[in-house]
Amino acid sequence: MEAELEIEELERDIRTLRKNLKEKVQQLKTLKSHFQKNCINKLNNNEIARYSRQIILSEIGVHGQLKLKKASVLVVGAGGLGCPSSLYLAGAGIGRIGILDYDEVELTNLHRQLLHTESTVGLRKVESAKSFLAELNSQIELITHHTQITSDNALTIIEQYDIVVDATDNVATRYLLNDACVMLKKPLVSGSALQLEGQLTVYNYKNSPCYRCLFPTPPPPETVTNCGDGGVLGAVTGVIGALQALETIKIILGNEGVLVGRLLLFDGQQSTFKNLKLRAKKLNCVVCSENPSLTKLIDYEQFCSMKATDKDSNLKLLSENERITVEQYKQLLDNGNQHVLIDVRGTNQFEMCQLPASINIPIDDILENRRMEELLAKVSPDATQLPTFVICRRGNDSQLAVQHLTPIFKERGLNPPKDISGGLHAWTHNIDKCFPIY
Ligand SMILES: [Zn+2]
Repeated sequence: MEAELEIEELERDIRTLRKNLKEKVQQLKTLKSHFQKNCINKLNNNEIARYSRQIILSEIGVHGQLKLKKASVLVVGAGGLGCPSSLYLAGAGIGRIGILDYDEVELTNLHRQLLHTESTVGLRKVESAKSFLAELNSQIELITHHTQITSDNALTIIEQYDIVVDATDNVATRYLLNDACVMLKKPLVSGSALQLEGQLTVYNYKNSPCYRCLFPTPPPPETVTNCGDGGVLGAVTGVIGALQALETIKIILGNEGVLVGRLLLFDGQQSTFKNLKLRAKKLNCVVCSENPSLTKLIDYEQFCSMKATDKDSNLKLLSENERITVEQYKQLLDNGNQHVLIDVRGTNQFEMCQLPASINIPIDDILENRRMEELLAKVSPDATQLPTFVICRRGNDSQLAVQHLTPIFKERGLNPPKDISGGLHAWTHNIDKCFPIY
């Protein structure tokens, strides 16, 4: 009987506590929203001091600084462009910055992706970037999206921001971001950098053309080069990333001079900037015209026949009997079989590391039929022929080379060369862990 009473009493207590908790949660909510409203409409002392050097600009002022504070920007890609652009956006006091990336930090990133450091190699890029930016500016909100942007999540994520910075490096994602930004009516600040050159423009802003207006169809996959294959200088991505931040800030402020309907070309070798006038919005553009035929996001990897990642993609141009594995090639080396190995990487890459006795003839020379007699003389020094193999960094260019050389060899009555599948990356992974990887 006594125990029953005790239980009843305890249950009553819990009910009261629950009621109190509910009231407190509601109070907290109201307080928070009051606080945020007051906060968002004025600058605190830290902010006044921190941003004073830009607030005194006639183009910004307190009014402009508050606009930056209330703004939200999504930076897609925490790499060569995403690092400098988010750095300047965070420094300038953009109130909410989202950083989206699916990747982890690698040593090959550090020469240009300066938010990442030796101590963050192996960590998620979004976390590495966030910790750097949070140390720079504690007054802003930083949100991380550790994911690949896809047709399934793009609209939900982009919806939460005012402006999108495209800091990615692949065609499929460019189309995806373009279409999603058109559908959600968000400006898209698009940049790219490769080797010593960079480009920049703003899509979907003040009646500017969209990416599809300019490029209705994707380029053939084999014509697209990424930083892993083509190389890039960090200072060049730094220039373009900083300019992306600048355009974003101008859009938020509502200032004039935004790169609309123009493409800015930067030549880092000559230190020149060029402005190209872009053609006007396409009246029958499938996505941004008045009557678009494309109203839902599609499968962009299929549309572009390319992976939607900045990772090196694996082409498959040859049949199995036109290729050998690194294990088979190792066997052939161990047996001391005489052969010719052609390495089709660029000269600088060849100088970094190479397999013994390989001959360097870069892919461009092969495709342009330069040094062909020299090559054929190696392959067939007398009436006989040596088996010939082609290798490159990842096994893509070597396939192109084999494809190009096969009819030439056949014409001369020679057996066509074979591709070493997966290239030097496969060699490091499967045969010799000490062989440098890059
Ligand atoms: Zn369009």
